[in-house]
Amino acid sequence: MRRIKKYNLLCACVLAISAVASISVSAGMAKRKVTPVIRYGTAETTAATQAANQQEDKNSEGKSNIITDKGVYYLSENSKYRQYLWKNADGSTPDYKAYVFEPEVFNGHTVFVDPGHGDNNAPEANQKREKYYPVEDVLLKPMKTSMVGEKGYGVGVEARDSKNIYDKTETEPEFSLKVALKLKQLLINKGYRVVMSRTDFNQNISNGARSALAGETSDIMVSIHSNTGKNSGTLSFYPGDSDYISGSTYPGYTSIMGITKTNIELSKKLAENMESNITQATGLKNKGTHTAVLRIFSYSTIPTCLVEVGFADNTTDAKILSTKKDEIASSMANAIDQYFNK
Ligand SMILES: [Zn+2]
Repeated sequence: MRRIKKYNLLCACVLAISAVASISVSAGMAKRKVTPVIRYGTAETTAATQAANQQEDKNSEGKSNIITDKGVYYLSENSKYRQYLWKNADGSTPDYKAYVFEPEVFNGHTVFVDPGHGDNNAPEANQKREKYYPVEDVLLKPMKTSMVGEKGYGVGVEARDSKNIYDKTETEPEFSLKVALKLKQLLINKGYRVVMSRTDFNQNISNGARSALAGETSDIMVSIHSNTGKNSGTLSFYPGDSDYISGSTYPGYTSIMGITKTNIELSKKLAENMESNITQATGLKNKGTHTAVLRIFSYSTIPTCLVEVGFADNTTDAKILSTKKDEIASSMANAIDQYFNK
């Protein structure tokens, strides 16, 4: 079984699109034709963005009444993202699904809680491939990205197996799930509906599918991760053309992906709330809120943020990650409360 590569770079775990140019592509992942939705650098850009905003308004109205099958929500058949998501080994389409938890009295807000990564013992999680950017390659030209053609496909999600150095047992997918389940319960108690990308250790779902499902079901998305890289502190990310992780800028990234200015501003606010609440509650160092170019953002149609709570290979951080999960989860719930109750 192929083991997961070692991570030495800051935030490599979140699979920054720009940091994976060397990953080769599996045979049989044919490029598909798609009708472009957003055109960059033309007079249509503004109109397309306005149309996207109007569509978001419609979507958010519909989200108060999503239909589930015994608490499971399936990605709609006509999702524009379907053609870019990973397929089963036999080429068939997997169930792209999320798990919905209803509060006793709904406060009108739905939060998508995403525990980063998945099952470490599922090698297929590292072999299924997904397009980095869910648009036609021709639209990527202004971004000056190398991730086009065959290089434009990478693993859908990466299961990390490096252990927390304080408790020497907990992996990142385990940490993120434990915090997410605590956060889920706190939010339900506050009246939020919660949608989760996974609820167990043996589940895997691609980063693109997480965002696509979030966009159909929820008002905001929070993706929970822990970091490695011999550093210390909390980092919060939101979508932007400048990628803090690689230090590169990708002109037009947000516009090409159809990420609206409104959603960028709201994502920033959400990320800032997360950063300040987590660091104040746990004592983790505040390493700031930054823009990033990540696949989980590329498929996003709602305000979204990704939080690297702390460094699992730093002794001080690792102890907090291991022993202060209640504080981490409650600070995240408070950040979400602040977001909706300005
Ligand atoms: Zn991660």
